[in-house]
Amino acid sequence: MPASIRGCWEWMNCPRHLRESCPAFPRFGYICWLVPGTMCGGCKQPRVPDKLPMCKECSWYKEMLRLDREALKPVEARE
Ligand code: SF4
Repeated sequence: MPASIRGCWEWMNCPRHLRESCPAFPRFGYICWLVPGTMCGGCKQPRVPDKLPMCKECSWYKEMLRLDREALKPVEARE
């Protein structure tokens, strides 16, 4: 992930009007799958248990999981 990415809205290229109406913006972009009512794909998403199947297919969610796994590796095993 480029260091300049500040949250899901940049990764997903959410247009300004969408990000500004999204409850994940600006503070919860790194844990957006835990935020109900996000504006992913331009539509208000449901509560967390109902949107998780969609999030598990999302490239941002997968990238966050990848980084978590990387951070938990012993230092000598990191890429
Ligand atoms: S689909 Fe889920 S993981 Fe992807 S940006 Fe939206 S809330 Fe975040």
